[in-house]
Amino acid sequence: MPRCLRCGEGLTRSRRSISEKLYYSLVFKCRACGLRVGEKHNFLNYFARHTRCPRCGTDELEKRATRDRIDRVLKTPISLVQAMLGGTLYHCVFCRIQFYDLRSRQPKSSSEQKASEALTSEQPQA
Ligand SMILES: [Zn+2]
Ligand SMILES: [Zn+2]
Repeated sequence: MPRCLRCGEGLTRSRRSISEKLYYSLVFKCRACGLRVGEKHNFLNYFARHTRCPRCGTDELEKRATRDRIDRVLKTPISLVQAMLGGTLYHCVFCRIQFYDLRSRQPKSSSEQKASEALTSEQPQA
């Protein structure tokens, strides 16, 4: 069990309120001082400004034009919806998973940013 950040006492699992359910997958409460500590949902990665791997959170992602047959494609609802909306296929080099995301990667340098902008504008006109 984790310890209280304020007093160091042991924390116990606590019921989440409705608003806490939106943000936290688990909530702990301190038996001594009543401090509540939440464990955030992994999907909050999706609300970051730039794409991150939904599994490990890295921004070391490769852009892919086509699906790789070997590495698996993430089939979470969020990834599937973004695929339907025309999201870009990304590949996490650490988890070896592929997923779709509508956002761009964190720009590393101005030259790399220009390269990725050129790529996205090259989409075929249907
Ligand atoms: Zn405490
Ligand atoms: Zn990853």
